[in-house]
Amino acid sequence: MEVKDISGVMPTDSGVLSQMGSMGHEQVLFCQDKEVGLKAIIAVHNTVCGPSLGGTRMWNYASDEEALQDVLRLSRGMTYKNAISGLDLGGGKAVIIGDSRKDKSEALMRRFGQFVDSLGGKYITAEDVGISPQDMSWVAMETKHVAGLPGKSGDPSPVTAYGVYMGMKASAKVQFGSDSLAGKKVAVQGVGHVGEYLLGYLQKEGAEIYISDIHEETLNRVSREYGASVVGLDAIYDIDMDIYAPCALGATVNDDTLRRLKCSIIAGAANNQLANELVHGEMVIEKGMIYAPDYLINAGGVMNCAGEVYNIDNDEVMSMAENIYNTTLAIIIKSREEGIPSYLAANIMAEERIAGLKKDKK
Ligand code: NAD
Repeated sequence: MEVKDISGVMPTDSGVLSQMGSMGHEQVLFCQDKEVGLKAIIAVHNTVCGPSLGGTRMWNYASDEEALQDVLRLSRGMTYKNAISGLDLGGGKAVIIGDSRKDKSEALMRRFGQFVDSLGGKYITAEDVGISPQDMSWVAMETKHVAGLPGKSGDPSPVTAYGVYMGMKASAKVQFGSDSLAGKKVAVQGVGHVGEYLLGYLQKEGAEIYISDIHEETLNRVSREYGASVVGLDAIYDIDMDIYAPCALGATVNDDTLRRLKCSIIAGAANNQLANELVHGEMVIEKGMIYAPDYLINAGGVMNCAGEVYNIDNDEVMSMAENIYNTTLAIIIKSREEGIPSYLAANIMAEERIAGLKKDKK
């Protein structure tokens, strides 16, 4: 299997089938219903590991091409995330084109649910940006291929935080010779859903915690509750720390911050942390840092969904998240042995799992 930069996007001028071909998509469904105002695209990237699972995003895209690029890129990302996590799930994603504050209705969501259903289970949907549990309940009136419903698997953040914590400990094991975080200076950027649960684990282990957030109130409360020191939004990149945990924004590992960061581990929940995988993946190695691949260590959320799809109980979902420790270790070791960036080692391992399963199925 050819190794690709999975963060990249395709030039907009190539046709849909050639974009699908070069990114390896199996199927793309364009959905339209003028009466209810629905315009959506469902992309099934790969179903070798199992039915494709990924959220539905509602966004006011500037053009249909932009929506197509997003859904193709995000669905491919889900294939890698689900494969590296050992789930019996492939990768898919859907986008609904529109303003989630103004354009949503029961009729629109139910019509979308009918399109999901028309794929016969090849695509399982869930919430993403712009979609609420209520919206998913409407989708669920038309199809059973939905996860993340109210009263089911619930908030994925605790599982996500546990996986991030496991990835952080595995990185510490390699970098410091011990996976204990006691006394380690950890800077958590963003103390929202995942960040706060992560603080609980860090506090319990006796880490020295630094936090930043744009939300003053949250910052003050969380700082008191977890004994964390507050640092400025930009100052977080300059403090003396062992571990940087981005739990808010993507692309914070870039030319500027890599010149400033003094940490030896980067491990957090945010998606797409490396601004440019090809450039910053290498820079991280040159600086002697370990980067725990984001899509691997934040996979607790999708494990939570998988639990709902396959009726797996909470304890088992948590032990799946615990296994992120072993996978992170394996990836860091592969990255060091082969002298390749950790994100690439993760991509290769995901591709090997898919290729192996494909061979077995033949
Ligand atoms: P959230 O919105 O609850 O928390 C994000 C926090 O970051 C908020 O408190 C926000 O005020 C803060 N923030 C925003 N801009 C900031 C900045 N410039 N500096 C510092 N803080 C800033 O989101 P979440 O659910 O905790 O998710 C955190 C990240 O992890 C997101 O990038 C998300 O995509 C990713 N993620 C989350 C899950 C999950 O299960 N929730 C799963 C996988 C990935």
